[in-house]
Amino acid sequence: MLLNGLISIQDLSIPGQTQIRPLRSSLLSKQVNGVYFLTIKNSMYPNCINYKVADLEAVHTKFVKDGKATLRFKQPKHQILLNADDRNMLFMFLRQIQDIISGKDVKIGTRQIPKKIPSKKDVNRFDPSAHEFIAADRFDKRILNMRQLHSLILENCVLPSLPEHIGDLPISLLSLTGSKLATASQYDQDIYWNWMSKNTISNTLTSLKMDSVNLKILPFEIMFLKKLQDLSLAKNKLINLPQCIGELKKLHTLSISDNLLRFMPDNLINKQFKSLDVSNNHFINEQRDAEIINNFNSKVYEYNKNKQVNKVERIKTVNTNCINLVLLTIRSIINNSIRFYRQEIPRTLWRYFDAAGRCRKCEQFVLPQAYFEFIHFKNPQAIDYQWSNYITVVPWLSFECYKCIELSCL
Ligand SMILES: [Zn+2]
Repeated sequence: MLLNGLISIQDLSIPGQTQIRPLRSSLLSKQVNGVYFLTIKNSMYPNCINYKVADLEAVHTKFVKDGKATLRFKQPKHQILLNADDRNMLFMFLRQIQDIISGKDVKIGTRQIPKKIPSKKDVNRFDPSAHEFIAADRFDKRILNMRQLHSLILENCVLPSLPEHIGDLPISLLSLTGSKLATASQYDQDIYWNWMSKNTISNTLTSLKMDSVNLKILPFEIMFLKKLQDLSLAKNKLINLPQCIGELKKLHTLSISDNLLRFMPDNLINKQFKSLDVSNNHFINEQRDAEIINNFNSKVYEYNKNKQVNKVERIKTVNTNCINLVLLTIRSIINNSIRFYRQEIPRTLWRYFDAAGRCRKCEQFVLPQAYFEFIHFKNPQAIDYQWSNYITVVPWLSFECYKCIELSCL
């Protein structure tokens, strides 16, 4: 008997595989040498997948009136979710299975699944057991069923939005290089990077390539990718790097050439890079830009000069300031490595994750309104180091919180 409809196949041996997209499929019952089989053919299994009826472990028919049923097999450990086009056919189909199970001699015709059922050119590429996938020009949702993937190459594709379920794939390499992401068309903060917040990918991704994607702000969600070792952001429009990049403790290879960076975040200053490429940026120059540097570094002296008038007042400020609840939240989130979706927290907090930084003295996270910025110059530590000739030394932007500044002056 042939049943057509939408079918999704869940592999129960792979943990966390919950949402599998249904595919238009054909389901056929057949008998070969006295053994009964159920065969499914769709774009994921163009050459059919066979299940022995004897391996059927459970049949759920609670929603059979809606044309839906679920079959669970022992071997392979798959759960088949059926959504039949024809409800009556589903009734008959389930009746037939029941007859087979109860040992009746069910006669099945030798009918074959018609060849015209999904026969796209690229069907074989979406092999659910493949380790690597290279997309031709766009993201295809069938990729989300490939739960054994190690590397996902989505280069030079049109990717108006990346589904967050990419984050459920256990990939170690993701390349979006040259693709058209939604980075330029709207306000950058409104782009969600939820895939970075997912548990699976945050524990597997070691290499992320996002060269030439028109990126203006590196999303703070990058800090959730704790296993990241290799990050490539060349040929974008980055003006600065968020301080939270310093939370990526395993990072040892960074390419940020051909951007618009003026400084590097100071919390990368002591990192031992295997490879670092900072060439072709807009770094300020120690000699040429003395005025800019002075502007940054003199603020703290102004602050101290004004405060010098009343030492008692300063001691009071340090000791009695209430802790800011926003600051407490952000510290707690970052220090406990809590992952979240951007849209789940108040919008007013987003900018703090872009701009908050660790104080260079107490190493606590501080909010923009509570730190001073300093510029200093030093060469990074990298085995393979690429830079442009016009900069002699790299400028670093560091933060120092009011509290540390005040305490150091008491
Ligand atoms: Zn401090």
